[in-house]
Order: sequence, then structure tokens, then C-alpha cells
Amino acid sequence: MKEIYCYSCNADSYVEWGAENGYRMVKCKNCGLLYVNPVPDDEEIDLAAKTGMHKGETVLNVVSSFSEIKIKDYLEKLPLIYDKSSFRNSFTWLDIGCGYGEFIIALKSFGGGNGIYKGIEPNEIKSNFALSKGLDVDFTDIKDLPDEHFDFVSMLNVYSHLPDPVLFFNEIRRILKKNGEILIQTGDAANLNRQDFPHTLYLPDHLSFATEDIIKKLLEKSDYSRISVKRFQHPGYHVMSTVKKLKKQMYEFLRSIKKSGHKKRNYFINTDRDMWIRAQKN
Ligand SMILES: [Zn+2]
Repeated sequence: MKEIYCYSCNADSYVEWGAENGYRMVKCKNCGLLYVNPVPDDEEIDLAAKTGMHKGETVLNVVSSFSEIKIKDYLEKLPLIYDKSSFRNSFTWLDIGCGYGEFIIALKSFGGGNGIYKGIEPNEIKSNFALSKGLDVDFTDIKDLPDEHFDFVSMLNVYSHLPDPVLFFNEIRRILKKNGEILIQTGDAANLNRQDFPHTLYLPDHLSFATEDIIKKLLEKSDYSRISVKRFQHPGYHVMSTVKKLKKQMYEFLRSIKKSGHKKRNYFINTDRDMWIRAQKN
């Protein structure tokens, strides 16, 4: 375990924000990044990514299963993120952390036959499944991939697992062709209190939660431009009518009167927190 600074702004001042599984998540006082501090050692992070198992007070098993629902969800979102004309000519696409291959399957259907798709997945159960579906998936170290090779590189639900996102963005920049694009999907944790966070923190599998602003700045720092963001309802939040939200607020208010120290949840926060960020290599 080691103490770290905020990777987004290098500040070392923070407030404690949440704790789970023997780990602490802090909020940077300067930029608002939520990050695990102290962090597990690098070797432990690598091993955890390979096995899907993470050491903590309890051993978390984050190996899920193949999901047809995910494919359907991607197929609804992709036309809102990309214009089909982007896929008119031949292209190469790398999906990092492709899991069971759901996004690649959706891409093949949406992007059509002009694409060559490759996936990287550290977890063997997932990558073996993707292989059995006929997808080109292995666990290549990104460092071993050639320069300027891909037209698109995507990373869905990967950002929060990265110990050093800037290093990662630079490495992706290296493997992208000129004018190639990165696609990042992650949640927006801006100005959330712990009790309003939509799910378990899954520490230390997750190492940080950023905001739209933080990720845009990091991308600019890594020399990407033409950044655009599409936001969707985060699946962790239930869709509620205003009447239901008001009822819930009233309930929380009454609970807080009865029980001192009860943390009120805010049902009126913006729940469009599923971000899909596109950016182009300069
Ligand atoms: Zn910061």
C-alpha cells in the first residue's frame, strides 16, 4: 500500500469521502476527483485484473457473465454516438477490457463488414468465452502493440480501474493512426455524496471516479482534440416520476428528524451520468 497524490491535478489535499472493504476513497479538494488512497501496490493491481479477484477484507469476485442485454443496450446507443458514414471505408478497432465481447459483437452489427475488430481482456474466463464466440481476443500488453495501427480504440468501464489514466491515454495515442479516435465510457461522479452514489464502490477494483471536466482536461493534456460527450441515464439510478421523488425526499426528511446522523439522499440529482466520450488524436 502506498500514499498517492491526485493524478488529475497533483494536489495532495483531500477529504475522506467513503470507505469499503478495508480501503478508503478520498475526494481531491482542488479538482473533485474521487480516488483510492492509499492504493494497493502495482503488482497486486495487475494480478487482480488478470484473475478478476481482488484482495481486501473480503475477496471480491467481479467476474460477471455474458449479457445479451448489454449488446441490445450498445446497439441502441451506438447510432447516437457515431454517424454510420464513419465506417464507410475499411478500419481497425481495438476494444480494451472487452470482457465477454459484447461491445465487439454490437460493433460488428453496427459498423458492418469494413472493420477488423480486436479485443484485449486480462481475465481468462472472459477472454476464453469471447474466443469461443469467434472473436479475436487475447491479453496483449498494450506496450507491445505497434505504433499508429488502429483507427478506433474503445475502453468501456475501464477508466475507473486505471492506476494512471494519463499514461494510458498517451499509450493509446501512440497506437492510434493520425486522426484516429478514442472512445471512453465511464460514470460521472461529479459532486456526488457517498449516499447518492448509485452502487457499491467495489474497492479496490475501482481506483478512481472522475467527472466529465476532469477527463476532458486529461485528454487535452494528452494531445487529443475534437472532444464530444454523449450522456445517458446511469443504469444504477431508478427512473422515477417527480411525485415519487418528492415522496422519497419527504421520507428521508422525516427519517433525519427521527434519527440524528441519518444521511439524506438527494433524489433530484442529475442521473444522466453514463458518459461516452469521443476524442481525436491530433
Ligand atoms: Zn485533484
